[in-house]
Amino acid sequence: MKIITRFAPSPTGYLHIGGARTALYSWLFSRSNKGLFILRIEDTDINRSNTKSVKSIIEGLKWLKIDWDIGPIFQTNNLYKYKKIINKMLNDGSAYKCYCSKNRLNLLRKYQIKNNIKPRYDKFCINFIKKNLNKKKYVIRFLNPKNGYVIFNDKVRGLIKVNNKELDDFIICRKNGIPTYNFSSVIDDLDMNITHIIRGEEHINNTPKQINIFKSLNSKIPKYAHVSTILGNDRKKLSKRYFSNNINEYKHNGYIPEAFINYILKLGWSYKNKEIFTISEMKKYFNFKNFIKSSSIFDIKKLNWINQYYINNMSIKKIKLNVLPYIKKNKLIINKKPKIEIIIKLFSKRCKNLIEMVDFFKYIYNKNILFNYKIIKKILNFKNIYKILIIIYNKFNKIKFWTYKNINNIIFEIKKEFNLNMYNIYMPLRIIITGKKISPNINNIIYIIKKNKTLYRINKLINILLNFN
Ligand code: GLU
Ligand code: ZN
Repeated sequence: MKIITRFAPSPTGYLHIGGARTALYSWLFSRSNKGLFILRIEDTDINRSNTKSVKSIIEGLKWLKIDWDIGPIFQTNNLYKYKKIINKMLNDGSAYKCYCSKNRLNLLRKYQIKNNIKPRYDKFCINFIKKNLNKKKYVIRFLNPKNGYVIFNDKVRGLIKVNNKELDDFIICRKNGIPTYNFSSVIDDLDMNITHIIRGEEHINNTPKQINIFKSLNSKIPKYAHVSTILGNDRKKLSKRYFSNNINEYKHNGYIPEAFINYILKLGWSYKNKEIFTISEMKKYFNFKNFIKSSSIFDIKKLNWINQYYINNMSIKKIKLNVLPYIKKNKLIINKKPKIEIIIKLFSKRCKNLIEMVDFFKYIYNKNILFNYKIIKKILNFKNIYKILIIIYNKFNKIKFWTYKNINNIIFEIKKEFNLNMYNIYMPLRIIITGKKISPNINNIIYIIKKNKTLYRINKLINILLNFN
């Protein structure tokens, strides 16, 4: 049997963490079994679906390198297909038209709640065929079996048994003629020969209804895996309070896609005590046995840790590939010296993410660095700083061969001459050259950015200090 899985998002918002994880599991399962993976856009809720969401979902999947073999298939392009099946069901009596008004349904619901009856449709429209209804709008309901049970073996949650008495004659087609999720999803799963449905736990109540549709169409029922919910630190549903739920924000905020995938993989699945997985290891080890039943907590600190781990352990070439979009965004020109590879090597062990990395090294490529009032004040606090800078400027200016050793010697001479400790010589220099209080070895940075830029920055600061008071 060929394994066929799908990711079937409703395009009513961006790709969120839970969605990305579902997509990842479905993708991994098909990839690890040499199966097919389909991307299906479930856009039959036309009032809430929009192309912006479709774009955002696709952008997120592409960033994570979750690729699909077929799709994206839009359900609204196949409305005729659903209609055909619905008509057949109307004819054979497994579905029926319901003309009830909202008002009637509201009253019914209120009555049922008041009398401790589980709210559900009362099949009014099966029994009462009214005349002159042709022009009136109707929904179409599925005639759910009255007796028996729906039983399925969920790959995460185990055996699930639901009494048909608990289920409603739910709506499969709206008044506007467009099918609802529970119907179109089943028809497509059937049509596409989906063998395994992996989705969020929030869908588990839909599954018995969907199985009953499969049964009424005499079709084979796919296997199900309803994966656990992802919660925030506060053990509540993921909200924007502490971090974003939008995948593309992680893309734009300097995360490595492989690190992100590694992190979300583990939010609902585990393999021994293994923390770090390459994509091929994921494909190799992924199975249905190791899903975690309990809900998991999205911990941004852990994600940051994994991201940093990936940056620290990646080849310079790979980091370069990942960091280029951020370099572009910062409009850094890196085709001149120093070579970006050297800079990445120097900085990559120091940062949590790629934005931070670019922010750490952009002073190397930019001509100017901006000094604010606070920074200048800080520099002024260093004793004799004005005098020192002038001497450094002149000595640097006289250097013929811009070598690390020559730079080092000059700084050492000045340190001695003014009887300075390390902090009092390196800190002001660091701030002037980098605009920051933290950097790699400052002598090395001075060596790397070369004479012109070094002199330019020192000179600029001398002028600022001169005009400061
Ligand atoms: N369109 C549904 C959703 O986005 C998909 C559920 C399913 O995978 O069946 O939640
Ligand atoms: Zn009705």
